[in-house]
Amino acid sequence: MKKNLEKLFKNLCCSVCKEGFDGESITIKRDEAGLLVVNLQCKNCGKNYGMAFLGFSDIKVKEELPFEVVEGPDPISYDDVIDAHRFIKNLDENWNKYLPK
Ligand SMILES: [Zn+2]
Repeated sequence: MKKNLEKLFKNLCCSVCKEGFDGESITIKRDEAGLLVVNLQCKNCGKNYGMAFLGFSDIKVKEELPFEVVEGPDPISYDDVIDAHRFIKNLDENWNKYLPK
């Protein structure tokens, strides 16, 4: 099972230091039928990505998919707010052309 997990996380890298994950980054906390609880931590910088609950018993992972673990979208910046403000201010009677068809 750990081999499969290594495969699952092999194409991932730490969003902080870009270090790839391997078997040492994964700690299996619980291994029950159909449920696996693992902890993922970067072995380079120590960033802890918390627990993952995996509800399957056999993992098939495509080798060629590059992934990066991130913590979610960047927060909206001040510039984004200004841009949105300008955009809305410049809308005219044809504003609905921006709506998806
Ligand atoms: Zn790291």
